[in-house]
Amino acid sequence: MYCVKCGVELKDGEKFCPLCKTMVFHPDIPPQSGEKAYPEYVPPARRFNRFGTLFVLTFMFLIPAVITFLIDLKISGAVRWSGYVVGGLALGYIAFVLPFWFRNPNPVIFIPCFGAAATLFLLYICLANGGGWFLSLAFPISGIATLILTAVVALVKYLKKGRLYVFGGAFIALGGFSILIEMFICITFGTRFVFWSIYPFVSFLMIGLLLIVIAICKPLRKSLDKRFFL
Ligand SMILES: [Zn+2]
Repeated sequence: MYCVKCGVELKDGEKFCPLCKTMVFHPDIPPQSGEKAYPEYVPPARRFNRFGTLFVLTFMFLIPAVITFLIDLKISGAVRWSGYVVGGLALGYIAFVLPFWFRNPNPVIFIPCFGAAATLFLLYICLANGGGWFLSLAFPISGIATLILTAVVALVKYLKKGRLYVFGGAFIALGGFSILIEMFICITFGTRFVFWSIYPFVSFLMIGLLLIVIAICKPLRKSLDKRFFL
């Protein structure tokens, strides 16, 4: 017997559909108890083979890297453009595959690792191009971005409370960061400091302060919780 509304199979004697709660009606069959048409216990879906997937993903990153490298070597006789491709693939691998080799990847460890790898990649690009922008631009920007991101992730992970303060502080830090970015650009390229960074600074500062005000003001937080299910 099947539910008239949703079509799920019903055990004999069922008065209501277990899925959609529609009343079961069948004039010919008197109510009686019978065998259950579906199991009480639903076994969890079979766990997918983590290491197999990771090996496949590793090859998906490795094969294009090797092919690019070999083609570059054959055409240019040296490593030229393939360095960027291999570096980019390595970065993608570090970001999206490497952490999952571990059972419980800790972002507090993997974010700095990715930051260091990204910085090295920028150093490579800078050296390969003969540009002098690594020490005064790329290094401080990637370093500070990594520090801010790691701090936020670590605080959110290890502090049970006060996330609004963390996010508020992070926005204020991003505001200060935008001014530093303009400063680094001016130092590196000798351009004039025109305070374009004041716009992102003020925007980030206002968002950060708003979050902190919400965190401090309990009634406001409660009403926002109710309204937006935060
Ligand atoms: Zn139903």
